[in-house]
Amino acid sequence: MTDRLHLPPSLPISLPMRLRRLPMAVVRRLLPSTCALCGDGCDGVVCPPCCAQFAPPRGPCCARCANPLPVSPPPRKREPVASVQGQDVENSLATEPVCGSCLADPPAFDATVAAVDYAAPLDQLVLQLKFGARLPLAPWFAERLRDAVLARPAMALPDVLCPVPLGRRRLVERGFNQALEIARPLAASLGVALHPKLAERTTETTAQSGVTPAERAGNVRGAFAAADPDRIAGRHVGLVDDVMTSGHTLAELAATFKRFGAARVTNFVFARTPPHF
Ligand SMILES: [Zn+2]
Ligand SMILES: [Zn+2]
Repeated sequence: MTDRLHLPPSLPISLPMRLRRLPMAVVRRLLPSTCALCGDGCDGVVCPPCCAQFAPPRGPCCARCANPLPVSPPPRKREPVASVQGQDVENSLATEPVCGSCLADPPAFDATVAAVDYAAPLDQLVLQLKFGARLPLAPWFAERLRDAVLARPAMALPDVLCPVPLGRRRLVERGFNQALEIARPLAASLGVALHPKLAERTTETTAQSGVTPAERAGNVRGAFAAADPDRIAGRHVGLVDDVMTSGHTLAELAATFKRFGAARVTNFVFARTPPHF
């Protein structure tokens, strides 16, 4: 007997409700798939031509903050070899260029991987995931991030991945954390452990997009706490988020992890907002 027979006739199940009860793989077979950008039929979320046109690999970027580097990058910075979990690993900053801003005022995080620039039309996909609950976009974001990671063979993989946590109120409103939706398939494809509750947001902050650039550092100061310190000490922690704009949220979270003994913190963000000069 199916669930449908238990429901009174006055409460018919809508097609979306029926589909929601099916495994995602089955839903994909039932629904004609169209590219989220051009609308043409395709097997995935975004068709290969749109992927090539709108999500090409980024150009030379700062290894630490993922901002584009000028045509002539500054001299490469050499940092000491880091020790993670008793095993010496080559610090990625020893072989990758770092921008002048990060050299002058190093952020709390050690490296950033960004898959694409936050620009049209991909910005619309980010909004569709976050505010339109178009969750199948998240694995596609994770695929682009995995490709960006593979393009940096000098970069050490983290020991553990965790999403930037949402505040409890925002999580209830939205029903999901878009960063976790990206982190889950990314962790699986990289073979890295995922710990969704490594950190928690202790204060409900105003969305960073809702405050001025000058207010962003203060808006997230003290907003996070380490929820599982034993998994942080001596570890290389990877932070996952959908978009990195000023970087203050990721820097605050990285500083929190460093206070609890994290050996290294690397950001993994789908999209990076280009700086405004
Ligand atoms: Zn397309
Ligand atoms: Zn930088």
